[in-house]
Formats: sequence, structure tokens, C-alpha cells
Amino acid sequence: MPQHVLITGGNRGIGRAIAEAFVATGDDVVVTSRSGTDGPGGATTVACDVTDTASVDAAFAAAEEHFGGPVEVVVANAGITEDTLLMRMTDEQFDSVIDTNLAGAFRCARRATKGMIRNKGGRIIFVSSVVGLLGGPGQVNYAASKAGLVGMARSIARELGKKAITANVVAPGFIDTDMTRALPEAQRKAYVDSIPAARLAEPDEVAQVVRFLASDAASYINGAVIPVDGGLGMGH
Ligand code: NDP
Repeated sequence: MPQHVLITGGNRGIGRAIAEAFVATGDDVVVTSRSGTDGPGGATTVACDVTDTASVDAAFAAAEEHFGGPVEVVVANAGITEDTLLMRMTDEQFDSVIDTNLAGAFRCARRATKGMIRNKGGRIIFVSSVVGLLGGPGQVNYAASKAGLVGMARSIARELGKKAITANVVAPGFIDTDMTRALPEAQRKAYVDSIPAARLAEPDEVAQVVRFLASDAASYINGAVIPVDGGLGMGH
């Protein structure tokens, strides 16, 4: 059965690859875009800024109208970085990353569960990061936001597990997207040197894991953190 899937930040990077993976398996896919650029072919794009509750609500309403029913799979992927050392980090830099990465995922999960409870099932998937558990210099805001997703997913799993709703976390390592292309070359090299796989991943390598978590085969996986990091975070 094709699923009704909503992916935030599906216009580029990892979110776009996730959308392509669901389109490839015949699912009905809505991606949200903040900037207005479209998601991949076969997906429907709706506007959404995840820092704005009304915008999230409007995006879900548009998706539900498109599907003719509730969102069955939500992938909270939209995220930003604002890296700087702790001593220099402003309140605004801290707040904006938490508001987008953590509160944005909360707004989407909260909105999605209304339909999922009525539908007696659903899949909530958060895109976290290896940095959430490993930490990263200059990433106090980002790491806190990504670690927060783990507690959030596990709380949702405990609240809604008996309603056949699962909440899981995918924790990518170092993926070749705009986000990592923005890093200085020396920093990219230092990261690659520390990854057992000795390379960056392609966005599709994350997308396939998200696709699996939404499948029937993953029905008993709940509150899990699945690393997709080439071994970078092993042991945490
Ligand atoms: P990109 O920078 O390539 O894309 C980020 C996406 O998030 C864009 O679609 C962007 O929309 C969207 N977005 C940002 N802010 C908002 C907002 N306020 N409301 C709605 N959408 C927003 O990032 P990646 O594809 O690399 O990252 C995707 C996710 O994966 C993020 O959560 C990131 O933290 C995580 N991740 C990435 C890793 C990597 O190595 N790349 C590693 C680990 C985790 P727009 O185009 O409109 O700006």
C-alpha cells in the first residue's frame, strides 16, 4: 500500500534524497520547502517554515488535502547549523538552531500525531546527527538540538507505542550536502580522516534507512537511534 509521507526540508540535500526514495517505491510524497524551491519530480511541494506553528499547521493541512487523508509517515529533516565556539555564541545563535532543529521537529510530530492516532498507526522519523551524541567543538547549539531529538523520540515511543505509532531517530554522520560543503576544506579532511569508512556518505545512504524505518519490516523498531555514519560514532 502506498503511504502518505511528509518530509520537511525536502527541496534539497538529505531531505530531497529521502523524498526520492519514497517516490521510487510508489508512495505519495509531500515535501516542505521554506525557500520555495521545489522537491524532486513525483513529489508535491508545499511551503513551510518549521519555526512557525501556523506554517506547520498549514503545510499539514495542505498535505492532508492532497492525500485525501492523514499523514502516515512524517520525516522531520529540516535543520540548520550556526557553528561558533561557546564563548562567542549569542542567545540568537543558540535559540535559532534549537527552534529549527528541535522545536521544529516537535511542532511537526505534534501535528502529525493527531491524524496518526485517528488512523491507528504512524511513523515519526527524526533526522538527528552523530554530533548529538558525540558532541562537536563549535556545535553546542547543534549538538544540544540533535541530542534533544533522542529524548523526544523515546518519549513519543512511550506515549504512543500502544497505538502502533513508532518514533525513531536516524543519526547521519558526514553527508555530502550544502551543509558540509560549507565547511573549510581542512575541517572536511579532518572529519574524513576520523571516519572508519574514510569517506563522506551520499544522501541516498541516509534516505534508504529512513525508507526502511517507514516500512512494514520496521514495525517493531521504536525509540531507536540508527547511526548512518560510516562508523564515526561507534560505541556511543
Ligand atoms: P541542507 O543545508 O542541504 O538542507 C537543509 C534543509 O532544511 C533545506 O531544505 C532547508 O530549506 C531546510 N530548512 C532549514 N531551516 C528551515 C526552516 N526553518 N523551516 C523549514 N525548512 C528549513 O542540509 P542537509 O540536507 O545536509 O541536512 C538535512 C538534515 O540532516 C538536517 O537536520 C541536518 O542537521 C541533518 N544532518 C546532516 C548531516 C550532513 O552531514 N549533511 C549530518 C548529520 C545530520 P531551504 O532550502 O528553504 O533553506
